[in-house]
Amino acid sequence: MIVIRVALDVPVFKLFDYLSVDATEADIGARVLVRFGNRRLVGLIVEVATKSELPDDRLKTCERILRDIPPLPKDWIELARFCSNYYQAPIGAALLGALPPRLRRVEPLPESPRSYAITQAGRLALEALPARQKSRRRLLETLRLAPLGSTSLAKIVRGSRAHIKDSLNKGWIAEQALSITPPNFTVAHELNGEQSEAIKQVCSELNRFASFLLLGITGSGKTEVYLNLIAKTLQAGRQALILVPEIALTPSLEALFRARFPETRLCLQHSGMGQAERVQSWLEASQGASHIILGTRLAVFIPIPRLGLIVVDEEQDSSYKQQEGLRYSARDLAIFRARQADVPVLLCSATPSLETLYRAQTGRYRILRLTRRAHQSARLPAIHLIDTRKNLLREGLSAPLLTALAQRLERQEQSLLFLNRRGYAPVLACTHCGWVSGCPRCSVRLVVHLSRQQLSCHHCGFEARIPRACPTCGNVDITPLGRGTQRVESEVAEKFPLARIVRIDSDSAGRHIKGLLETVRSGEADILIGTQLLAKGHHFERVTLVGVLNADAGLFAADYRAPERLFAQLQQISGRAGRAELPGEVFVQTRYPDHPLYRALLQQDYEGYAQDLLKERKIAGFPPFVHEAALRAQASSMESAISFLRQAASLAPASAGDLTIFDPAPASLARLSGLERALMVIQSSSRPQLQAFLHSWNQTLSANRTSVRWHFDVDPIEF
Ligand code: ADP
Ligand code: ZN
Ligand code: ZN
Repeated sequence: MIVIRVALDVPVFKLFDYLSVDATEADIGARVLVRFGNRRLVGLIVEVATKSELPDDRLKTCERILRDIPPLPKDWIELARFCSNYYQAPIGAALLGALPPRLRRVEPLPESPRSYAITQAGRLALEALPARQKSRRRLLETLRLAPLGSTSLAKIVRGSRAHIKDSLNKGWIAEQALSITPPNFTVAHELNGEQSEAIKQVCSELNRFASFLLLGITGSGKTEVYLNLIAKTLQAGRQALILVPEIALTPSLEALFRARFPETRLCLQHSGMGQAERVQSWLEASQGASHIILGTRLAVFIPIPRLGLIVVDEEQDSSYKQQEGLRYSARDLAIFRARQADVPVLLCSATPSLETLYRAQTGRYRILRLTRRAHQSARLPAIHLIDTRKNLLREGLSAPLLTALAQRLERQEQSLLFLNRRGYAPVLACTHCGWVSGCPRCSVRLVVHLSRQQLSCHHCGFEARIPRACPTCGNVDITPLGRGTQRVESEVAEKFPLARIVRIDSDSAGRHIKGLLETVRSGEADILIGTQLLAKGHHFERVTLVGVLNADAGLFAADYRAPERLFAQLQQISGRAGRAELPGEVFVQTRYPDHPLYRALLQQDYEGYAQDLLKERKIAGFPPFVHEAALRAQASSMESAISFLRQAASLAPASAGDLTIFDPAPASLARLSGLERALMVIQSSSRPQLQAFLHSWNQTLSANRTSVRWHFDVDPIEF
């Protein structure tokens, strides 16, 4: 008997041995059907051996090796194993979690589409076929123009299945390997000097691993640069992987790819796709039949046999980090993949994360700069700061903003009001002197927990009572920042009874959002009120005014990454104003108009501001100057979550060298689906040390039984 070692998606950190009658080395990477307890599961064969550590009579025989698709390649297994080690996730969760859901199901896969071409015999037969054999003629006529896949044929030819079968038997058509000839690239612009230089730099490394940061303001032509690089990659007979934060809501992106690469075989991959469609597209890409793979974070796991280039657009976007299950960062895995495949990787951003910027500045990534707007007509919007100490807010809106709104309504232009209701835990601030509650231990801001009347630091666990008055000026009017925006919509409706108002936020579910966005695009809305969802890549021709209502909540948020995120958001959201012929204006309401962030925003100087932030991070001892992980716990009460973490800390392995475990703290999102969530941050200046420590701690914790749900989060971006 042969022993196969199988990864299963169960929360156990090991492989499971099964017997097989017919497994060979060639089955490594194949899916396999096994019994596990009283369930039937799909697993993945990771090793084939002659012997198990368990006695033969304790081993079950696997039900069947699924050979319906080619086994996953070795480098893919290596990627998933790396993921499991790095992110402290069970091997099975990492391997199976990286597959599209349809491949983890027990039911057999639908037949994958094949491509057909007409033969010489088919051409002759077509001449002689009587006109009444309509469908048969249609099939041959279609294929005479170009080879085509079965899915497309099904749409063109009635009863295509039977006719394909029949024509195959007669030798009129033949199955064809999926097309891999490079598609054409439509040149749209003459590149400017900076663009050409950036392309030249990457092209000099096209056949080996190199990481680049493509840094340029919105509209500087970054997309154009990577489109050209993709064209070069395809011409060399290779495939390109493009990761973007969001596709489903930005149909213009797919349209752009299709327009610039006509006839291209484009593989889309995102969670909004149907399961069948997703697996189909996954299989085509992994069999080398797609030129371009365009997807969200989960696309980083598609096996790509002829990978030639990876692009990560808007690399700073937090959606690249998966926040549940396997907590990977697709951006970081993209770098791993590029190194593994020995190809260049390009991180693109106008406002890169400080981690990336720091790596670029210390020479690990090469910086390619685009400093000018690529297109004359793409004017920068004028940004105005509205000092809300002088212009008092009513229900979150200032007088100058209301005036601007009225003007747009008169001119029949659209306005966008942007408010971040979520994502920022409430921080206490004094309305009089501007004091903000800060943690005395670690220089992040304390979060208000009204129910417990406590301020707490989500980073180091420090706790204090909510003060009755401002400690600096004695003012008793201290309130959580970012409050008072809830009634914005009704206030706007009251002020402008005739305006057509659309509100879009994460509560407006999937499909619904698409409809709403369509309403805005077609001009059937005047005022659009939305959250961060709207910052990403939407293009509304008639929006000429953007109002940012509560930017300060991001300025002084509890999370030390909040300022860089706020800057990125403000820049993205400003990019929404005046993209087309109409010039745009941005109004940012703030109590702190002199804050360095706003000054940098007005001067378009992200790098300068980021430099200051990096200095602060260094002094405070935050990433990228240290490495972080978090141990997260969820329980029915906060007490049990916290006490689990305390106990876990006492079980932590002794560690030589520099390693800090902070106190447990409630998470920003303290309650989710009825469970209370807490976390404990771990820091070390040495990555290998942190990894070794987590690994051994993980083993200890796994051996202990508990009713608390817990997991590690390596390189956490939310606290
Ligand atoms: P980014 O990705 O940096 O925001 P894009 O690549 O989308 O910028 O370019 C912004 C606009 O400028 C687009 O409309 C694009 O078609 C145009 N554009 C890009 N490069 C050039 C160029 N070399 N000449 C003229 N227009 C350009
Ligand atoms: Zn005060
Ligand atoms: Zn602290």
